[in-house]
Amino acid sequence: MGRSTSFEIRRRLLLAGAALAGQAALAAPATDDAATPETRLRELLSERRSLRLLRGTETLSATYWTADSGYNRDEYLNICWLMRDVQADRVFPMHHGLLDVLCGLQVWLGRIGNDAPLQIYSGYRSPKTNNRTEGAALNSRHLVGRAVDIGVTGVSNVKLAGMASLLGRGGTGFYPGRNFVHVDTGDERIWIDRARKKAS
Ligand SMILES: [Zn+2]
Repeated sequence: MGRSTSFEIRRRLLLAGAALAGQAALAAPATDDAATPETRLRELLSERRSLRLLRGTETLSATYWTADSGYNRDEYLNICWLMRDVQADRVFPMHHGLLDVLCGLQVWLGRIGNDAPLQIYSGYRSPKTNNRTEGAALNSRHLVGRAVDIGVTGVSNVKLAGMASLLGRGGTGFYPGRNFVHVDTGDERIWIDRARKKAS
């Protein structure tokens, strides 16, 4: 891939993000131009935090937190199960903040007319699985339950990455030509990576 093409993708991604910042204001009335990812996310999260997920043929609809009762252990574990390392058949306690970012993203998608479930391509990865994943970082946040690779039917990955980065509590990775966007709750950063075959 040439340098100019990389530049073009970065430009498009940033434009998508800028356009979505305007949409955030429409979708969440109290949000203004000075909104931070934290304030945007707070406005999207309600007193019931739910996720509708899809992984292969598995589907899950789970309300993992309510203002009245806090975390629902069973529902939370159902989410962790869906996000398990399927190769090693291992479950890991997924980061609560990551679930909130996904929930906010899903609420936002709903407001702009997309009610499709979030498709999970990768969640927790055991060290063994991570080592076998081409292009995965040694310190990948998938190893500590702080990253997922997702896609949503009806939304381009450029747009999805732009939205995720606006709610970001961490990194957003966009991989042109691949079917997913990487979202994590590590240090705030955004990247576009053509060379890697899979997310870090
Ligand atoms: Zn990833």
